Amino acid sequence: MLKIENLQASIDDKSILKGLNLEVKAGEVHAIMGPNGAGKSTLANIIAGKEDYEVTAGTIELNGEDISELAPEERAHNGVFLSFQYPVEIPGVSVTNFIKTAINETRKAKGLEDMPAKDMLKMIREKSELLEIDRKFLSRSLNEGFSGGEKKRNEIFQMAMLEPKLAILDETDSGLDIDALRIVANGVNKLKSKDNAVIVITHYQRLLDYIVPDFVHVLYDGKIVKSGDASLALELEAKGYDWIKKELV
Ligand code: ADP
Ligand code: MG
Ligand code: MG
Repeated sequence: MLKIENLQASIDDKSILKGLNLEVKAGEVHAIMGPNGAGKSTLANIIAGKEDYEVTAGTIELNGEDISELAPEERAHNGVFLSFQYPVEIPGVSVTNFIKTAINETRKAKGLEDMPAKDMLKMIREKSELLEIDRKFLSRSLNEGFSGGEKKRNEIFQMAMLEPKLAILDETDSGLDIDALRIVANGVNKLKSKDNAVIVITHYQRLLDYIVPDFVHVLYDGKIVKSGDASLALELEAKGYDWIKKELV
């Protein structure tokens, strides 16, 4: 699904990613953990194609195709989803209407007609039932006055509707309460399939109490320095990151 080799990237001449390797296969859930400032969000943004970064070396392949030169929209159309891509408040545009537009734009980019309204409604009904999202929420204005939990619910709903091949959830907000974490975790657990892959980026182990990842990676100073199974997250919770620093020297 995703193969990253020797990725090096900088911003304003400051080197941030320093030779990062990562391989994610279909059906897998990967967690990326690491201390603040290690480069986790940078990695997510670069995979999604945000243009603030300069990629100085390395390759990013999605299903065997080099996506490094593609614009963010093209990557999205190829099935890459990054959470928090649409954090803006849009008064007058409902959660449902926003996602309908996003889906039809993706279809248009692939040369397809708009999804028939009947099919769209059916999909909205199925996905909202799966995620236990009520109808009132779907008719609210996008992000307007949303709580942390509601923002997460909206993101997970977007992810469910867009059916990405590769979903990247960057849980940057340290202020997320347990309810919000549960919403994210339930969503990931319900949406994972043998055909898609999920990368969950988190600073905190507690999200992984609810999502059991197949692999856990530690991103430290621009590189993945350690990989393991879910037990690695518990070890990090217990011991912090300092022991990894010591292992490296
Ligand atoms: P993490 O998500 O692991 O906390 P980030 O990827 O956000 O780390 O940041 C990695 C490093 O890059 C940090 O030192 C941060 O200050 C720097 N950085 C990230 N984005 C920018 C930016 N837009 N401008 C300048 N420096 C940045
Ligand atoms: Mg940070
Ligand atoms: Mg971050």
